[in-house]
Amino acid sequence: MEDLRFNGLTNWLEVSGGALEHNIALFRRLLNPGTALLAVVKANAYGHGLEQVAGVCVSSGVEMLGVHTAGEVVALRRMGVGVPIMVMGYLTPQQIADAIDPEVHVLLSSYQVLEALAARGRALGASLPVHVKVDTGTHRQGVDPGEAAKLAAAAHGAGLTVAGVATHFANIEDTTDHSYAYLQLERFRGAVTAVQEQVGRVRWVHAACSAAALLFREADFGMVRVGISLYGHWPSKETHLSWLLEHGRDGVKLEPALSWRARVGQVKKVEAGAPIGYGLTYRPTRTTLIAVLPVGYAEGYPRALSSRSRVLLRGRAAPVVGRVCMNIFMVDVTDIPDVRDGDVATLIGADGDERITAEELAENAGTINYEILSRLSPTLSRVVVK
Ligand SMILES: *Cc1c(COP(=O)(O)O)cnc(C)c1O
Repeated sequence: MEDLRFNGLTNWLEVSGGALEHNIALFRRLLNPGTALLAVVKANAYGHGLEQVAGVCVSSGVEMLGVHTAGEVVALRRMGVGVPIMVMGYLTPQQIADAIDPEVHVLLSSYQVLEALAARGRALGASLPVHVKVDTGTHRQGVDPGEAAKLAAAAHGAGLTVAGVATHFANIEDTTDHSYAYLQLERFRGAVTAVQEQVGRVRWVHAACSAAALLFREADFGMVRVGISLYGHWPSKETHLSWLLEHGRDGVKLEPALSWRARVGQVKKVEAGAPIGYGLTYRPTRTTLIAVLPVGYAEGYPRALSSRSRVLLRGRAAPVVGRVCMNIFMVDVTDIPDVRDGDVATLIGADGDERITAEELAENAGTINYEILSRLSPTLSRVVVK
């Protein structure tokens, strides 16, 4: 079971290439035939590692990669990624001048960005692709549905290629009532029609994130933008429940791609009543054996999990005791025989028949799986495994 690549590490992430491939194949089966798949790899691929994930996505044939920043475009270019990239976040004119090339599609919501892209296009002698971002009710990025055709015409007039029209849903993950999503879809259809009347047919129409791609075939259009579920996670309990209400138990078996391991740095005895860790917050009621793990909130293990979580060691659960520190936390291993320095603990993932999910950590920390994953420190070693 020990992989030699882990010998030099105290703490690492394993990213299952097979799980990513499985999840991509699952969306291929689920989506309307011919729907393109944009793999969202922003936030260091939801903590899984941009380079590691992009490689698997490209070899699995995804049509586009989605990022948030110019820095992520530069990183993908350095890796020599050969599929188009879509930037979904704000870009400064300087970033556009430095980082945008004709294979980068930009979600367009602003006339300042439009001008900077037009200038960049002229400098390159190319017509850069943009996707008009329509705010259909999320009230975040994008222009109002009534303004979309005007923005498209301005982009077209400035020498840009209007390659797409896009929107983003506000309220699929948080509810099993999808009336607001359907209202957004109605507004989106109107905006798509208006844009196409203005500039002709556009290549890419897209609205769906993971939740919509799982639940609504009518939101497929030409492409879907899948993030969290590419990594094997339901966007929320409500999304999973909506699926189950409609389809029963079968069909979608997402496979989580990430495991987080750390080696035990020390095992020691603490007397009953003696405090463990900063703030003296935890006092065992019996003589206790603790294992000290070289991981903490700086690595992305939330401090909110102080005395509120567990890890797996030798296939058994060991509760977190005391505060999570910056680079260290402690677990109770009294009931697990033979734990030794160097043993591998599982913070997220499976060990034997037991499994700890990102959702379990999120629930205990008062947050969502997205935040647990995306805040895994970029400094952790990430290793692709089968
Ligand atoms: C992050 C993001 C997505 C992916 O959302 P998931 O819920 O992770 O699938 C899709 N579209 C946009 C615009 C995003 O910012």
